[in-house]
Amino acid sequence: MTARSTARIYRGTPANLARLARRLRAGELVAVPTETVYGLAAHALDARACRKIFTAKRRPANDPLIVHIHSLAQLREVAEVNDAALRLAKKFWPGPLTIVLPKKPLVPAVVSAGLPSVAVRMPSHPLFRRLLKLCGVPLAAPSANPFGYVSPTTAEHVRAGLGNRIRHILDGGPCTIGLESTIVDLRDPQKPRLLRPGAVTRVELERTLGRRVSPARTPGSEKVAQLAPGRLARHYSPRTPVTLHARMSRARAARSPASEAWIFVGRPRGLTGPNIFWLDERGGLTGAARRLFRTLRKVDAHGFSRIHAELARGGGLAPAINDRLKRAASRG
Ligand code: AMP
Ligand code: MG
Repeated sequence: MTARSTARIYRGTPANLARLARRLRAGELVAVPTETVYGLAAHALDARACRKIFTAKRRPANDPLIVHIHSLAQLREVAEVNDAALRLAKKFWPGPLTIVLPKKPLVPAVVSAGLPSVAVRMPSHPLFRRLLKLCGVPLAAPSANPFGYVSPTTAEHVRAGLGNRIRHILDGGPCTIGLESTIVDLRDPQKPRLLRPGAVTRVELERTLGRRVSPARTPGSEKVAQLAPGRLARHYSPRTPVTLHARMSRARAARSPASEAWIFVGRPRGLTGPNIFWLDERGGLTGAARRLFRTLRKVDAHGFSRIHAELARGGGLAPAINDRLKRAASRG
């Protein structure tokens, strides 16, 4: 996949950051590290630049992009702000939370896929923050992978998927969270809705807002939505078929043919083999989230006939991990 790579991977030196900021301002694409997953960034106020994202990713035009900002002043430039949004921004930004608000006219229609709303996030990754500051404009960025495949959590993942379609990749190391941001819809601040679970949980949002946040729909239950067509059931998908297990039996994995892979959340004691994998040594959800996508990629590359994956249990990151697993398993 990397054979025809034309992309260069840059270390985050001051000179490289200045150069990449110039490229972005000139309308070129740059893949960037964030604390969630790697993004494919373009000048968010330049429609031509943003269209390149859709071409490079082969992303359908009806799937809106997230606008990344450096400051609250930029939030006011791109969105109609309300008190609820400011409350969440104060508590969770910079960080893995995206807020959907009514859009200001400055944001080109291509960014919001024609919707009157815009999704905004202030990321915390130090290199991305420096780049945003140097650019002085908001950057639109979806995940830096071909549409529908597992999101990238290292610069190498970006190169493997898009290396022949983009020129610049900024390396910020492996993503610390490893799952895409939480998305909350605050177009109507009286009726907050979770659109995508992530590292900021629904309970945390409810505590901060002091009101109920309606839950995200489970993947597959959604009609091809008007609001955010991107939340298709099948997404984040390896090529190998995935079967999910609420509780995965070690005995069954031990008896399984070597052609089937088994991914446990925690290390399964007493069980080893070239088809046995786990997300976190001790079953911790932070580590499991961080390594979910890279494990799916690694296992996918082995050419197993099937991947069995264990669902996470509990609160915190479990709903976000399970959302991605369900999408990976969806045939829809
Ligand atoms: P990605 O960055 O590829 O993980 O996806 C960005 C996602 O953000 C889209 O697929 C939508 O689910 C969501 N999104 C972006 N803009 C909007 C919007 N205006 N309204 C609702 N959801 C949005
Ligand atoms: Mg994506």
